[in-house]
Amino acid sequence: MNKNFIAGEWVDGDSAIENRNPSDISDLIGSYAQASTSQLETALESARAAQKIWARTGLEARQTALMHIGNSLMARADELGELLSREEGKPRAEGRGEVYRAGQFFTYYAAEVLRQIGDNADSVRPDIEIDVRRDPVGVVAVISPWNFPTATAVWKIAPALAFGNAVIWKPANLVPASAVALSEIIAGANLPTGLFNLVMGAGSSIGDALVTSPHIDAITFTGSVETGRRIAAGAITNMTRMQMEMGSKNALAVMDDADIDLAVACAVNGAFGGTGQKCTASSRIIVHDAVYDQFTDKMLAATRALKVGHALEDGTQIGPVVSEGQLSENLDYVALASSEGGEVLCGGERLSMKHDGYYMAPCLIAGTRNDWRINREEMFAPIACIIRASSYQDALDIVNDTPFGLTAGIMTTSLARANHFRRNADTGCVMVNLPTAGTDYHVPFGGRGDSSYGPREQGQYAVDFFTSTKTAYIAVGAVD
Ligand code: NAD
Repeated sequence: MNKNFIAGEWVDGDSAIENRNPSDISDLIGSYAQASTSQLETALESARAAQKIWARTGLEARQTALMHIGNSLMARADELGELLSREEGKPRAEGRGEVYRAGQFFTYYAAEVLRQIGDNADSVRPDIEIDVRRDPVGVVAVISPWNFPTATAVWKIAPALAFGNAVIWKPANLVPASAVALSEIIAGANLPTGLFNLVMGAGSSIGDALVTSPHIDAITFTGSVETGRRIAAGAITNMTRMQMEMGSKNALAVMDDADIDLAVACAVNGAFGGTGQKCTASSRIIVHDAVYDQFTDKMLAATRALKVGHALEDGTQIGPVVSEGQLSENLDYVALASSEGGEVLCGGERLSMKHDGYYMAPCLIAGTRNDWRINREEMFAPIACIIRASSYQDALDIVNDTPFGLTAGIMTTSLARANHFRRNADTGCVMVNLPTAGTDYHVPFGGRGDSSYGPREQGQYAVDFFTSTKTAYIAVGAVD
């Protein structure tokens, strides 16, 4: 059933797209319906009506529905993880882990349903009480990227539903199979008809129609800065509430006092995990002069040892990149690195494998400067650039010299440096002796600068975006 889910019905679209496996492009996963703008209108109308019912539905019924979705995802993590890996290209264990994590997001937010407690206060005026409560915002547009097809969508959909909202979800067109699979599970959770809608299609058509609609109350978006800017410009006409998590250029700083083997393990994991296609990927590795050669030699050996292969084959550590377009952009960046003066130590070329897919050898580039384009623009690729730093302070300055600010890491055995870095890295997330990638679901997640716009996602902080506070003043007259 590769259809859209609109007003409680699975419906065909005006057209369809093919979905192919990036590990083996002869493997056709399916054909997926593209929603029309009139179907979007139907979804918006039904969402508006269903949201009013959902907001009045008892908390335990809401909690049960979310718990059911979460448990179903976790129970089916092997099967749905395989599907995710087949269409996105991340190794099987990462696909499974993502689906399981998505289930945990739902069970976490199931508990948050019952934790919706307001505030009360005495007025500064006598005999008046104040009650502060949170109402749902209404109908929420969820726009998600392809690199974490299930988890990113879920960390938006789960809190939206938990706090009483309706959802219109537009996933990325590169990953429709995971979107349909998740939607089938949500459709089986006994929600009011029309509360949750799946509208698949291109960003420039159905995505644009969704985010510029006056019939949505909030947009939660994850994707590139360029798309985020376009969405914000369109949505501001309606003064629509927005939350955006976008690109990044994360740095890992390796100090002269670091455990070098641990630093290499964290750098390789952060740079090449998920084929480097993570918003939290370490694309800038900033290394103290005193350990530059030692670290670079070891990182080169570890990068060369990575096994690139079909996402579903045992032993694969790095899958293909997601598409032909992404691969060609990556190769252009490697050429740019050389032209800017970088030394390509390994990788950076297309690989021919047993299956015809979008395979690229992980690429390590040394001798780079922070002001080069390869260190300023997000590449979203298995490419890591090494930058030399003369001191801790120099490394920190380089970490912060970027328009982005999602995550930054430091490898050090100095408590003083670790604490100083934690407080002075200008990013939304900081990692000490850990890879820059890898975050939890019960705490806030997000960036600074061009990486992020609007309130934080995840954990209890999500309540700020998905609800609107109401402050009521009540005169408490004297009793006879
Ligand atoms: P993208 O910006 O191309 O697309 C993201 C989503 O927006 C897709 O669903 C797309 O169809 C939709 N879209 C595109 N144009 C639109 C428009 N005009 N109106 C409405 N929707 C539109 O991003 P992508 O290539 O899918 O994902 C990669 C990007 O996502 C990277 O920049 C990465 O850093 C970012 N990302 C960020 C985080 C984070 O939390 N900060 C997490 C994952 C990915």
